[in-house]
Amino acid sequence: MSSHRVVIIGSGIVGLSTAWELSRRGIAVMVVDPQPVHDQASCGNAGMLSIGHVPLTRPGVSWKGLRWMLSRTSPLYIRPTLDREIWSWLWQFHQHCQEPWFARTMTSLCEQGWASMRCIDRFMEESCCPCLFRKVGWMAVCRTESMLHEQAEEAALAQAHGYDCVTLSGGELRATSPCYRPDVAGAVHWRDSAICDPREYMKGLERACRARGVTFAPRTAVGRITRDAGGRAIGVECGDGSRVEATHVVVAAGVWSKRILEEVGVRCPLVGARGYNVRLEGMHSLPAAAAVLSETSIAATPTGNDLRLAGTLEIGPLGKPWIRSRLDQLRRGASAYLEGGLDRAATVEEWAGYRPCLPDGMPAVGGVASIPGLFVGTGHAMLGMTLGPIAGQTLSRLIVGEAAEIDLSLMRPDRFGVSR
Ligand SMILES: Cc1cc2nc3c(=O)[nH]c(=O)nc-3n(C[C@H](O)[C@H](O)[C@H](O)COP(=O)(O)OP(=O)(O)OC[C@H]3O[C@@H](n4cnc5c(N)ncnc54)[C@H](O)[C@@H]3O)c2cc1C
Repeated sequence: MSSHRVVIIGSGIVGLSTAWELSRRGIAVMVVDPQPVHDQASCGNAGMLSIGHVPLTRPGVSWKGLRWMLSRTSPLYIRPTLDREIWSWLWQFHQHCQEPWFARTMTSLCEQGWASMRCIDRFMEESCCPCLFRKVGWMAVCRTESMLHEQAEEAALAQAHGYDCVTLSGGELRATSPCYRPDVAGAVHWRDSAICDPREYMKGLERACRARGVTFAPRTAVGRITRDAGGRAIGVECGDGSRVEATHVVVAAGVWSKRILEEVGVRCPLVGARGYNVRLEGMHSLPAAAAVLSETSIAATPTGNDLRLAGTLEIGPLGKPWIRSRLDQLRRGASAYLEGGLDRAATVEEWAGYRPCLPDGMPAVGGVASIPGLFVGTGHAMLGMTLGPIAGQTLSRLIVGEAAEIDLSLMRPDRFGVSR
């Protein structure tokens, strides 16, 4: 056993992937989280391991967002708010939706995508996780020819990084997935991606961590990071008054990482982009692969005999009540693409959770230069399930003093400066 002892704040995909990678190296790990594992964004998401996906900060996205802002059924919704931090986030986000930045982030995310799939493959081999993992890719399904053209152009950007994307006509799509309506124009198939049942993935990851000796603190929230006289992070203090001592601290608390980091002076301007998810049972025909129904941005993922519909990006203060019309919009929006008994399918689960989003569209992964012993993994926005595994592998390497496999220059956790 090494002399490292790591405490990880948060048991989402980033926290548990880090715990698993560290435990493979024989390092003692404790995970602290107030919620049961299997109850966070990492469980309620669409389950698409969509490597090569384009970042949120696409040129033109912020203008589209402004047009959508007042509609309660659009894919992106900004809750009316006077919160200055949210308006500042939106302004910074808008400034990053431009071409040179987009190209740089695309290069980084494509590199992370390949590396993350290698981590996922290794995890599947070593842990026998029964999470319905299948390498069937995902489809950008389009109702109109103009959207199909737009999606093919987007896929060409990933093809330049070696990703395998092919355009299918409506007939070709229906040959493998007869549940699509006759007026659907076609799809772009991203063939390198995979799908899973995210809750089962997280359960499997937790089991694998426990089997390797990772310990989980009794359910409690971390109140603050503790530091020694020299400023080094030396553990955490929990809400129940208990303290955990450690040689290294990893903040992987999703959107809640903001408060924990700002308390030690690291500015981390995260906002929570809420998404909704509904699981339907009883359809007689399901899509062969996961899909994003492009005009609506709704994800439709077949998991076993069920269909999981997920989507909407709702930006606003945390903890507000669900907007029922946005949840209902998932089934309504999907019905413009899918038949297969969707109208009679029973709802077996409804869920809402937050994607942790930074205004430049990139995650924060790595060490904090000014605080020895402190590491961060958050801000993966709509790609956390996909890229959480490589974030975990990267953090484990850095903690033991090895070089990262991927370029971290756009992901420094302290790139936003200090907090007041
Ligand atoms: C509707 C929807 C669909 C999505 N679909 C996909 C998809 O198909 N593919 C994909 O790649 N990504 C998808 N995502 C995004 C993905 O789910 C997230 O990016 C990812 O789960 C974030 O993981 P995380 O580990 O950073 O945070 P989380 O999963 O949010 O976990 C953070 C954990 O930190 C804990 N925590 C908070 N505060 C404290 C504290 N003080 N002390 C201790 N613990 C604390 C929380 O309880 C939580 O368990 C989707 C998201 C949504 C909402």
